[in-house]
Amino acid sequence: MVTRPRPRVGVLALQGDVREHVRVLSDLGAEVATVRRPEELAQVDGLVLPGGESSVIDKLARAFGMRDPVRAAIAEGMPVYGTCAGLILLADRITDGIEGQQTFGGLDVTVRRNAFGSQVDSFEVDLDVPVLGRPPVHAVFIRAPLVVQAGEGVERLAALADGRVVAVRQGALLGTSFHPEVGGEQRFHALFLDMVRDRVG
Ligand code: GLN
Repeated sequence: MVTRPRPRVGVLALQGDVREHVRVLSDLGAEVATVRRPEELAQVDGLVLPGGESSVIDKLARAFGMRDPVRAAIAEGMPVYGTCAGLILLADRITDGIEGQQTFGGLDVTVRRNAFGSQVDSFEVDLDVPVLGRPPVHAVFIRAPLVVQAGEGVERLAALADGRVVAVRQGALLGTSFHPEVGGEQRFHALFLDMVRDRVG
């Protein structure tokens, strides 16, 4: 019998809700490491970019010499899953970033930061996500971004009732505006681990 190796995945641990992602990925049977340095990135087959504050993660990534290694890993096809701030960091283009804010890029999308404004800081909604089947995903949005434009190669995995896109996939890159790791939802992480296994296998 062939046993599938446990996927080795990292969570970029510069800022944000690192622990929540580590917990979900560990619960799903992955071997999980926190990643702060290029040597640590080199040890993993997939990477999660957590929620948090994208401008801070961007600055720390540059300060820690992580920007170029992460960009290179994405270019080489490493599976990467970004939630909220992580989605912003995966976007090729952003609007409403702070002065000088950069992203790693890779996803052919334009993402608007803090797209729901200060009136609606946070909300929760049940979302239909056809690739995940039933039941709907209970999605927690916290100062969330929106995908306001997406290139032809980008799959729209979920949208709000009014059609605004909140989950996308393109090749080995997965991004959600919301935080499945906060609501006890594991299926996006399971999908991501499948992408990592496909890539390694
Ligand atoms: N508004 C944050 C940012 O711009 C994202 C919020 C989150 O990750 N929950 O990075």
